[in-house]
This record gives sequence, C-alpha cells and structure tokens, in this order.
Amino acid sequence: MASHSLLLLPGDGIGPEVSDAAERIVDWFTRQGSVAFEIERDLIGGAAYDAHGQSIAESTMGLATSADAILFGAVGGPKWDGVPYDQRPEAGLLRLRKDLDLFANLRPAICYPALAGASSLKQEAIEGLDILILRELTGGVYFGEPKEIVTLENGDKRAVDTQVYTTPEIARLARVGFELARTRSGKVTSMEKRNVMRSGVLWNEVVTKVHAEEGYGDVTLEHMLADAGGMQLVRWPKQFDVIVTDNLFGDMLSDVAAMLTGSLGMLPSASLGAPDEASGMRKAMYEPVHGSAPDIAGTGAANPLAMIASFGMCLRYSFDMGQEADMLDAAMANALATGVRTADIADGGNAAGTGDMVDAVIAELEKLAA
Ligand code: NAD
Repeated sequence: MASHSLLLLPGDGIGPEVSDAAERIVDWFTRQGSVAFEIERDLIGGAAYDAHGQSIAESTMGLATSADAILFGAVGGPKWDGVPYDQRPEAGLLRLRKDLDLFANLRPAICYPALAGASSLKQEAIEGLDILILRELTGGVYFGEPKEIVTLENGDKRAVDTQVYTTPEIARLARVGFELARTRSGKVTSMEKRNVMRSGVLWNEVVTKVHAEEGYGDVTLEHMLADAGGMQLVRWPKQFDVIVTDNLFGDMLSDVAAMLTGSLGMLPSASLGAPDEASGMRKAMYEPVHGSAPDIAGTGAANPLAMIASFGMCLRYSFDMGQEADMLDAAMANALATGVRTADIADGGNAAGTGDMVDAVIAELEKLAA
C-alpha cells in the first residue's frame, strides 16, 4: 500500500481547529485502505515562538524538507504583535516558502452551486465558476533589491521597491501554468503590464516563447494587461481558465477572484516547488488563504472547508489522486447543498460549528464511497 508523509503545521488562532478538521478527513481517506497518510505535527508561528523563541525551529525545517507535503493552518495574532520583526509569526511561513523554493502559488476560485447566491456578482456570472490563479511567489517586487527608504538631503524621504524577474523564473512558472491548463480547460491567460514595465515586456516574451517552443501547442495562450484583467475578472470571470501572473499582480488578482466566490473560509491554496530530479515529486505546501482569525479562535465557529479543500489540492497535485480529490470536492458541495453553514456563510439563523461541518463532509464521503 502506498504511504505518504504529511507534515501538519497548525499554527495559531483557528489554525489548530481547522487542522484538526482536516486531520479527520485525512484519516477518513486512510481508513479506506488504498493509501496510508502518516501525519506528523509540529509548531509554527506564534506557537513556535512561545516554545522555542523562533517562529520556526530548525528541526521543523528539517521535517518540512523531508515530508512528501506540508499542510499549514494559519499563523499570527495580537499576542505576538510585540515580538522582534524577524521572529514574528509570519516569518516562519515566509521562510518555508523561500527555503523550499515554493515559487508557484495556485489559488482556485470555485463557485459551489449552493453558495452562488452569496456572491457580490450576479448569479449567472458566477454559477459554475472554476478558475485558477497561478501567482509567482518567490520573486518580483516583494523580494527585489534595492528595497529601502532613504532620507534625501532636503529631509524628504524616498522609498524604492524593485520589480525584477529573470528568464528562468518566468519560464518555470509558465510551464506550471501550461501543465495545469492541460488538466483543466486548456487555456492560459498571462497577465502583466508590458505597456509600462520592462519586466512586463520580458514576462510576455518568455511566456510566449515557452508556449511556442516547448510543445504546449495544445494549450491556448492569451495575453492581457493586468489592469484590464482585473476588470474582466469582475465583469465575466468565466472567460478564464488558468491566469498566470507575477507576485504583485497575483496577490491582488487572486484576492479579487477569491472574493467572487464568497467567504475567506472557503478558499484553499497550494504552493509548489520544482519537481525533484530523481522522484519527480514537487515540494509542496497546502494552506487556507485565511489567517488565524483571532476574533473567533476558540469558539468552534471556524469554517474548515478552506483547510479541507487545501488537503483536496494536496491529493490532486502531490499524490496524483485526482479521483479522490474530485470525491472530496463533491462531498463538500453536497454537504453545502444539504444546507449546513458555518457562521461566515450562513444567512442568519443557527450556524453550524467547525465539527458539524466536518461531520457533514464525512457523511457525504461515506455516501459517495458506498
Ligand atoms: P483573517 O483571515 O484571520 O480574518 C479575517 C476575517 O475573516 C475575520 O473576521 C475572521 O473571523 C474571518 N475568517 C477567516 N477565516 C475564517 C474561517 N475559516 N471561518 C470563518 N471566518 C473566518 O485575517 P486578519 O483578521 O486580517 O488577520 C488575523 C491574523 O492572521 C493576523 O495576525 C494576520 O497577520 C494573520 N494572517 C495569517 C495568514 C496566514 O497564516 N497565512 C494569512 C492572513 C493573515
């Protein structure tokens, strides 16, 4: 029987609550008997700072490097507002992304039929939506040097951030985009600002070249300026399949796309590295888009679906278990169709708790497996 190792990093606030929920789903799949998931838990974020004085311990980095995949909850909270900048809870998350070179961030925006009415867009614009934003995660203006605020001779200040991309950074992301599109509707829309940014010119050139020269002729490629893309995303999002874009535009566009579909509590993500030369497996971390939600932590009200859907992405992208991932997606959709709602997606009335939502998903998994 195949066995996969998972490192579970629950973190802070609602992180442990949604991680417990995901663990129940992982265990359900293990109980089906065709594959075993071995879960190891460790600390990250504020919880790690409290225990070790650092937001991720070296031993945890070791576990993260050797695990087949990482499931990450959420970090942060007011308790750690005063800790040194380098040790703030988010530093542990950024270190994981950077040290494991998780350059490809996948954020799906899927509209569950039962929640189509909850979107800020008209129902016909959103019903059946299934798009994927692929954001470059380890380069661009968030990391480029120089990055500084200097005081000028006249006392004014000058702030600089540097948008920088190399050919290989763009090419490897484009390849992931084309490969993902092949498993979906076969279309990639590349977004940049080539009209005003040199990095946009290079981005456009490299994506076009990878498409033409590396055998991706079966995938349709279109280019769109990122600002126009933002407008199109809220006008008619169903025109897109996979959107490939840089770190800064991806940050904004993925938040826009995400909110088309409703609550933060519904949104999963995956961050993938390059495939290992020997095994072909990619380093990968799966996490909900939401944070640690200190306002509801400990109340049992957190929506676990973003975390559970993140495990679904893990099945699909790390373990090639597309059928099981489809089954989990169907179980979540069916659970919502029965009317069960956590407070963040409830329209008034009595809301279900985290555990009730997991019970509902497991009940639907049982039905689908029967
Ligand atoms: P947040 O995502 O934690 O919460 C925003 C709002 O959404 C809150 O009202 C919260 O109750 C609600 N919410 C979020 N997830 C939910 C869920 N699963 N179910 C129901 N409601 C949910 O963002 P924030 O309040 O800006 O940040 C809180 C803390 O989380 C901060 O310390 C921030 O730095 C951190 N944060 C961490 C991550 C991460 O770990 N990846 C991401 C974003 C924010």
